[in-house]
Amino acid sequence: MKYDVIIIGAGPGGIYAAYELVQKDKEIKIAVFEAGHPLERRKCPIDGEKIKFCISCPSCSIMSGFGGAGAFSDGKYNITNDFGGTLYKFIGKEKATMLMEYVDEINMKFGGEGTKMYSTSGTKFTKICMQNKLKLLNASVRHLGTDINYVVLENIYKELSKTVDFYFDSPVENIVKKDIGYLICSKEKQYEAENCIISVGRIGSKWMEKVCEDMKIPTKSNRVDIGVRVELPAVIFSHLTDELYESKIVYRTEKFEDNVRTFCMNPNGAVVTENTNGIVTVNGHSYEDPDKHTENTNFALLVAKHFSEPFKDSNGYGESIARLSNMLGGGVIVQRFGDLVRGRRSNATRILEGMVRPTLAATPGDLSLVLPKRILDGIIEMIYALDKIAPGTANDDTLLYGVEVKFYNMEVEVDENLEAPHKGLYIIGDGSGVTHSLSHASASGVYVAGKILEKRK
Ligand SMILES: Cc1cc2nc3c(=O)[nH]c(=O)nc-3n(C[C@H](O)[C@H](O)[C@H](O)COP(=O)(O)OP(=O)(O)OC[C@H]3O[C@@H](n4cnc5c(N)ncnc54)[C@H](O)[C@@H]3O)c2cc1C
Repeated sequence: MKYDVIIIGAGPGGIYAAYELVQKDKEIKIAVFEAGHPLERRKCPIDGEKIKFCISCPSCSIMSGFGGAGAFSDGKYNITNDFGGTLYKFIGKEKATMLMEYVDEINMKFGGEGTKMYSTSGTKFTKICMQNKLKLLNASVRHLGTDINYVVLENIYKELSKTVDFYFDSPVENIVKKDIGYLICSKEKQYEAENCIISVGRIGSKWMEKVCEDMKIPTKSNRVDIGVRVELPAVIFSHLTDELYESKIVYRTEKFEDNVRTFCMNPNGAVVTENTNGIVTVNGHSYEDPDKHTENTNFALLVAKHFSEPFKDSNGYGESIARLSNMLGGGVIVQRFGDLVRGRRSNATRILEGMVRPTLAATPGDLSLVLPKRILDGIIEMIYALDKIAPGTANDDTLLYGVEVKFYNMEVEVDENLEAPHKGLYIIGDGSGVTHSLSHASASGVYVAGKILEKRK
């Protein structure tokens, strides 16, 4: 089988690359290989009743399949260069912003119309944060919500499947470089293409490492973010979330001068588990549909850790901490803030008696047995800092779920075209270590599609 372009991975990076290619070149032959299932077959078995915890399915429906890790996400497309990746370092800030806005237009065309765009520009909260030693980062955010995000993906798939060959449940095993182009091997078959776009996301990190080793593509270790997910009554944060939806706030701790930041805020949302290569961590999402709203808001508080010499394995460090919490809690641990500061384990009774009804069935436990002191101290300091702009954040009943770990793929060496040192091999999205968000990953897909189209002219 011969194609002009083979795309590995049907997450946002792969999808928007395919979309741009078929929109601008009606003759182009494209195949997309995806390790996971088609969208309609993606179903996490956790139902909260029969199956309460992650059972480590061979293909995790939360992380894999059409739509990638973003399919059941909150669908928050942040249009900013302040966070979400470093795409701007390769393609420039103006181009990166333009592409993120272009992706937003596509999302609107495929079912996102009517969803809200929030912005920090001109908000009073910038000053209020500053007065309380907090920094509010600049961004516009389109909140599609888990439900509309799904509709957009469904519609884009309908459009793409008219012209693109999709191979689902087909992990690519290896890539062989030829004189011109590449051989892609999947399920004991070989497929040929002049150009190959790799967009395998975080779930593909181990495979990506192997490809880089085999093809002698240089890599650099990246950071890992470790912390907890905070859940509290939505009213406590409503003045912020009503105006900004998601506020990315950074706090510099007094004790160690570490940066602690809020991440992935989900007003009226739910806390969920996430499985990365068998390690269960915590995440969150929320629906656009008011009928699916909960009474709580959740967000992560994270501390970034970088390692250089002699230990370089940032992800390995994060994995070990997550494993420890899995070992003690059988999955995710939940603790009341009041119990944490009093140095005692939470138990089911105290959580039941509390004012915050947990949206995730996690094991009551003690996060101080899992998280390193320095990280935990930073998180506690930040909770008290947030309490000044959102009184009630530091209430005893505020729930902390652990651990939340943001793994970053190692940074793969790519040039300003996002092309590896091999001609025609593009590495994009979270799998490249360059992006860590829906908007940046999608924009990187559109960008490399443009580069391939230029070559074909
Ligand atoms: C629960 C959750 C909520 C999130 N919420 C948000 C949010 O609101 N906003 C935001 O900006 N970001 C969010 N994120 C992060 C966001 O989803 C990712 O940044 C984004 O999906 C990255 O896109 P990608 O295309 O690079 O990779 P992915 O979306 O990870 O897609 C990669 C795809 O490649 C496939 N693959 C891997 N290896 C192979 C192989 N060898 N062969 C074939 N296929 C392979 C995988 O199965 C996967 O489907 C969330 C993530 C999760 C898990």
